[in-house]
Amino acid sequence: MQGYNYNRQAVYSARRKKRRRQIIIRRILFAVITAVVTTALITAGIGIYSLIAPEKFDEGFIPTPFGKNVSKKVAIAKELEIPDWIESQLISFHTTARTGKNLADINNVVIHYVGNPKTTAQNNRDYFNNKTTTVSSHFVVGLEGEIIQCVPMYEMSAASNDRNRDTISIEVCHPDKSGKYNEDTYNSVVKLTAWICNNFSLDENDVIRHYDITGKICPKYYVENEDAWEQLKNDVREKLEEYED
Ligand SMILES: [Zn+2]
Repeated sequence: MQGYNYNRQAVYSARRKKRRRQIIIRRILFAVITAVVTTALITAGIGIYSLIAPEKFDEGFIPTPFGKNVSKKVAIAKELEIPDWIESQLISFHTTARTGKNLADINNVVIHYVGNPKTTAQNNRDYFNNKTTTVSSHFVVGLEGEIIQCVPMYEMSAASNDRNRDTISIEVCHPDKSGKYNEDTYNSVVKLTAWICNNFSLDENDVIRHYDITGKICPKYYVENEDAWEQLKNDVREKLEEYED
């Protein structure tokens, strides 16, 4: 009788083991199938979305299944090496001056004037760095042609109102109230602007004034003297052509 019981227990135990193995196999299979189906659904979802909203799948964007698409230009900005003629002095994260938010895209370069004659690039950068200052720009060009970077090019600066989200901003120092840039400053503005354009596949027509966004008289001299503005854009084009050689 004992032998019989022993055999029966062994049979039960073997069945239990088999059943447990089956449950584990079923669970693994379920996990694999879930993963495959989810991937297929996401891929199909992106495909359908690209058909019903093709404008969201501009070739300038990397589609992502969740959230917003990532601008390829912003991705380039993250990898870009800053040349040695630009001094990086990034401001701290504070107020709207530097939120740390990424740009949505890079569509224009916006030129400004600081509006405060004789102040240096360093003065203006330090002003942006004040904890209570709510404005900033990506770059400041100074009276000796020096260039200071205040905000990384993939982040939003606070200079160009509702175009902060998709533009690179350049604040420019000037010796007097007219707002006209001196020669060293002017040359650096052209050099910097062309360098930015070249990196982000922009041209001189993508270079705009603060004035073109809001009507603000900024950069003053280049709003009041349309010829001087056209000349600046032509000089940017010439500088850009140097990159093509
Ligand atoms: Zn401005």
